[in-house]
Amino acid sequence: MLQVTGLEVYYGEVRALSGLDLRVREGEIVALLGNNGAGKTTVLSALSGLVRPAAGRITYEGRDVTDAPPPERVAAGLVQVPEGRRIFSTLTVHENLQLGGYLQRDNREVARRIAEVYALLPRLAERREQQGGTLSGGEQQMLAIGRALVTRPRLLMLDEPSMGLAPLLVTAVLEVVADINTKHGTSVLLVEQNTRAALRFADRAYVLEDGRVALTGPAGELAADKRVTEAYLGTA
Ligand code: ATP
Repeated sequence: MLQVTGLEVYYGEVRALSGLDLRVREGEIVALLGNNGAGKTTVLSALSGLVRPAAGRITYEGRDVTDAPPPERVAAGLVQVPEGRRIFSTLTVHENLQLGGYLQRDNREVARRIAEVYALLPRLAERREQQGGTLSGGEQQMLAIGRALVTRPRLLMLDEPSMGLAPLLVTAVLEVVADINTKHGTSVLLVEQNTRAALRFADRAYVLEDGRVALTGPAGELAADKRVTEAYLGTA
């Protein structure tokens, strides 16, 4: 459903991506791994339309979206979850979710979608009148995911959803992602520093180094690959 070929992105003189190829098939969870500065976030920014590639092509559901404006991509179901802390802290949980429906004119449809999010994330339902800023870190991350779900993504992109969370919560957040994938058939592109956890939940993964793909394969194979275990999983 998503195909990226020869992607190059520069920030001024700095080359962040050089000739990157990647694909996500319908229904897959794909992890993007790699050290700090490898280019993971830049891939998502290019896919969301926040940075313009100098070269390469992004095809989404058979359509060239390389230069499509961000709202057009969201409307087509290519949706990035904003970083956890980017929720509106003075608005309630429910109001934050309503904002996820901004592209949808039909209020009843938005209400239906929010009800689905509450069914999937009952913790949010319990806290619907609570101000976003008073939620715990994990709950804020769930809210950011919930808000993205209101747009009915077909390919959901997440940038380090486990950042700053305690180990138990990392698993909880990734379980929610896996649940969305299973229940809604939503494809997922997941950027994670937590290599071990990501490989447990993903079908396939790409390891980026210096703006290119260093390794790729089924998650199970990569988790057993010496190059991955030595460089990214520690030796324990
Ligand atoms: P991290 O895991 O630390 O978030 P990452 O793999 O997501 O890293 P990117 O954020 O994509 O890496 O950064 C790739 C490269 O581009 C890095 O060398 C980074 O310093 C550089 N870079 C990213 N954003 C900018 C920017 N706005 N201006 C200049 N250079 C940037």
